[in-house]
This record gives sequence, structure tokens and C-alpha cells, in this order.
Amino acid sequence: MQILVQSTKTGKGTPAPELTLFASDRLSTIGLGPLSEKISVLWNARMRSTAGLAYPASNLIVLNPKLSSFGWREVERTLLHELAHLVASHRAGRRRIAPHGPEWRKACVELGLSNEARCHDLPLPRRELPRAHAYRCPNCQSTIERVRPFRRAAACLPCCRKFNQGNYDERFKLARIAQPKKNAA
Ligand SMILES: [Zn+2]
Ligand SMILES: [Zn+2]
Repeated sequence: MQILVQSTKTGKGTPAPELTLFASDRLSTIGLGPLSEKISVLWNARMRSTAGLAYPASNLIVLNPKLSSFGWREVERTLLHELAHLVASHRAGRRRIAPHGPEWRKACVELGLSNEARCHDLPLPRRELPRAHAYRCPNCQSTIERVRPFRRAAACLPCCRKFNQGNYDERFKLARIAQPKKNAA
């Protein structure tokens, strides 16, 4: 199995062979055997609030290891979400497609992920370096800190998944809070 580490924009990651196999199997079941032999899944411990990223040019998926603390279901959902990006891009070839457009949604459904939220962020505990913008979920009280503010309204992903099948839900809209005071990073 091909493990692409150096050619990615994210730098080094730790191979996740079991997840690569899982993703590969899922691709085979939807008739994408050739793609299934090329993909790799890595963990990247330097990711902050981003849950996962897909790199179609390298057939690579990079996941945030913090996902594990949310349980296998979250790992699986994020992996399938990113896998759907690879599938959509693979099928589109050189044609440009919207990141979360109809091609991606179709791939999500085929991969067994219906009503997937268009969100890549995780609520993480406040123990990282100060971020300039902080948000809190009004439901579970998780906080999300960002380098840049959200451009559009964003809702808490786990709560949307738990209570609204992964769809955006106003009840879980992340509210801006004062930047948490930190002593030493
Ligand atoms: Zn996405
Ligand atoms: Zn929440």
C-alpha cells in the first residue's frame, strides 16, 4: 500500500493502516477498486480544530488524532466525509466541482453517510495555544477556538449529529465568546 507522507502540504503524519484498509474496502464496495488501491489515511497531531482534510491530488486523507476522544463513530464519519471528497474529485477529473456540492453529497450517500454536515471543525478542550476567536456551543458548552472568525454561521458538529442527523441546526449555533484568558501556553 502506498503511503504518501512527504508530498503532502501537511508535512509528516502517522500512517493509519487500519483506517486506510477501512476506506479502501468502502471504495471497493462502491466499485472504485483502482482508487481504493491508491488511498492512504494519516493522523496528523498538529491539526488544531480541523477534524479532517482530503488531498485528492495525492489520494490522501489526514485526520486529527483528537477525533479518537469522540469515539469511533466520529472517526468513521469524518473519514467517510473526507473520502467522499476524494470520490467526488476522482470522478470529476479535471472538471471543477464545489467542495460540498452535489457530487460530494452523492458520494456521501453511496459511502453510507447521509445528511452529512458540511463541517470540518471539532469542539476541543481549551488547552491549546491562544486562538484569536472563541465560540461556544449553547448546548454542550464545548468551545471552539479559531485563528480566523467563521465567515458564515457555524453550528456544533457533535450536537448537530446527535440531535439533527448532522444537519445545520440553529439551536447549536456557535456563539462568540470573549477570548479565554490564558496564563502560560
Ligand atoms: Zn468537507
Ligand atoms: Zn454542542
